[in-house]
Amino acid sequence: MSDAILRYPLTALRGVGEGRVAKLEGAGIGSIGDLLEYFPRDYLDRSEISPIDEINPGQTVVVRGRFGEATNMRHGNLTVTRATFRDKTGGIDMVWFNQPYMAKNLGGGEYICAGKATIRAGRLAIESPDYERVQGEIFSAGRIVPIYPLIDGISQKILRPLIRQALDMAGHLIVDFLPKNILEQFSLMPRADAISNLHFPKDDSQYMAARRRLVFEELFLMQLALANLRGIYTNKPGHRLNIRPTKLSLPFDLTKAQARVYGEISADMASGYAMNRLIQGDVGSGKTAIAMLAMEAAAANGFQSALLAPTETLATQHYLDFLEIFGDKLIVEKLVGSLKKREKDKIKARLAAGEIQIIIGTHALIQDNVIFHNLGLTICDEQHRFGVRQRQKIGEKGIAPHMLVMTATPIPRSLAMVLYGDLNVSIIDEMPPGRQKIDTFAVGQAYHPRIYKFIQEHIDSGEQAYIICPLVETSEKEGMAGIRAVSDFAQELVLHFPNCRLAIIHGRMKADEKNAVMAGFAAGDIHILISTTVVEVGVNVPNATIMLIENAERFGLSQLHQLRGRVGRGQKKSFCILISDSKNKITKERLAAMTRTNDGFELSELDLKLRGPGEFFGTAQHGLPALRLANLYRDLDVLESAKDAAAALIAKDPDISSPAHVPLLKRINQKLGGFGDISL
Ligand code: ADP
Ligand code: MG
Repeated sequence: MSDAILRYPLTALRGVGEGRVAKLEGAGIGSIGDLLEYFPRDYLDRSEISPIDEINPGQTVVVRGRFGEATNMRHGNLTVTRATFRDKTGGIDMVWFNQPYMAKNLGGGEYICAGKATIRAGRLAIESPDYERVQGEIFSAGRIVPIYPLIDGISQKILRPLIRQALDMAGHLIVDFLPKNILEQFSLMPRADAISNLHFPKDDSQYMAARRRLVFEELFLMQLALANLRGIYTNKPGHRLNIRPTKLSLPFDLTKAQARVYGEISADMASGYAMNRLIQGDVGSGKTAIAMLAMEAAAANGFQSALLAPTETLATQHYLDFLEIFGDKLIVEKLVGSLKKREKDKIKARLAAGEIQIIIGTHALIQDNVIFHNLGLTICDEQHRFGVRQRQKIGEKGIAPHMLVMTATPIPRSLAMVLYGDLNVSIIDEMPPGRQKIDTFAVGQAYHPRIYKFIQEHIDSGEQAYIICPLVETSEKEGMAGIRAVSDFAQELVLHFPNCRLAIIHGRMKADEKNAVMAGFAAGDIHILISTTVVEVGVNVPNATIMLIENAERFGLSQLHQLRGRVGRGQKKSFCILISDSKNKITKERLAAMTRTNDGFELSELDLKLRGPGEFFGTAQHGLPALRLANLYRDLDVLESAKDAAAALIAKDPDISSPAHVPLLKRINQKLGGFGDISL
């Protein structure tokens, strides 16, 4: 049997000519197969048909009967068409507005009408009903009725029977590309049944089973695609490190959570396989400390290690922290874009010669001309800023080096599985001792005078403040009125803080300018730092105690939480003030959540729920593959099954080349182009 018919042009269907073909193609439907995969976006449950004499006003009902006479009446500009409609039990009026032709449209024969019953002119009526002549199969009632995403010029009424036609013609040729054992193991409906039931569900439970099957296949293919992109799920042999229970170099004891996570890392690095691990830990939970220990262990085993940071500011800060800890024990260097060429060349030469044990840098580290002597461990900080490809690239600079990625954006488990499907996950869910809760307030612009006074008092007692604006410069663009910009707001703030030193920082400044400003802020020479979100990531100035965020409605919850994490890093009580005049309900809910909890995981779950994965990371290019059916929030359990199935399959058949997997491979090749790179 051949599935070639699925690739047949749409003109093979009755009622489809060139005009409709063009319209369908406009919606990405080019063949019978495409049409079958044009899934409903919603459903109406119209399975019950009501006897007319049992209908009460206010009920949404479906009735089956015949039209009697129809009349048009004019009321000023309005033409009201009223037709009587009867079944065996009684009568009801069907009413249309400004569609006088309806009076002539309604022929004899049986009809189905659906809509909400009301009282009109003293009689029971349905206004603007959905109606359909009963001829053969009925599509709009007596069943669960699919509602498709709109296609210009193709109404639901046209589309439903077309899809039925396509199903009748080719439905039985739909190939199930999922291997039998997976269908059985996860009790999945066969593909042909699932597609048929997704369009025209026989009943609720068939619909659920159909959806589950198709969600599974979507997520399963995605996991396989990720596997394919990353070469994952395979344990690659790696350097077996001898991890001694060293007298650790850190000036403090590890928290329980840190100790557990370091234990997991140590076990990975001692296993003989290459480590592939993600550390998730809220801002300030002490991830960098873990990185230090892992790098120290690599050095003790004679390996070089690299720490990759997303910004120069952060790389520099890490570098200084590392110098403080390892200054006289290990050779630590920094490689960033703003160094002079001569300096860079020197560092590269020493790196290649094996004279540097720990290198900390930015993207400059992944350039082709950076060569390591024996790279044994790579660490990406704030991983969500790096794409999969970049992570791969740094990994290629050694022979199967251990890989650690660290993120402070707490990612809901479901998303972590999509984005980091290849990684083992460790979580630091405990803060170092002495941390206080950051008191958070959400207020409107009217509070500015009071807030300025509050900031001044804290500066007077030797503390520092961040003020975050969404923009660098005021924008004239539509919808951007009233959105604060760093440069303009700074000029205004100078007037409110005449005795303070203010500075601005944003992404358009040169790296050495930014470094100078950050150094000034870290040294306490600058009291108020007015910034865009460039300070979002990793910056550590324990003396800063106030985080003021303008236009807080413009930031995602995770981003707000990250920003808040810039304060509360020392012993002093810290505050986060969110300014927003937004009346939007979801915004209000998000800001209220910020005032309620300091738990990044709780916030990230809520963010995902409120905004969906697409917007989860703010407006940043998130690069998530488009999911047509699956909802990462609702379908977590299916995702877990899909991931298990994908991992098991790859373990058995790494390049999906066994004869049993031919249909699967075919489907992947068809679909893989659509996945793209995942570059979060
Ligand atoms: P993260 O990278 O997770 O945001 P850091 O590693 O930068 O966190 O740690 C934040 C601060 O807490 C740093 O000043 C660090 O020295 C300190 N710190 C980390 N771990 C501990 C600990 N176990 N006890 C005390 N202080 C710690
Ligand atoms: Mg950090």
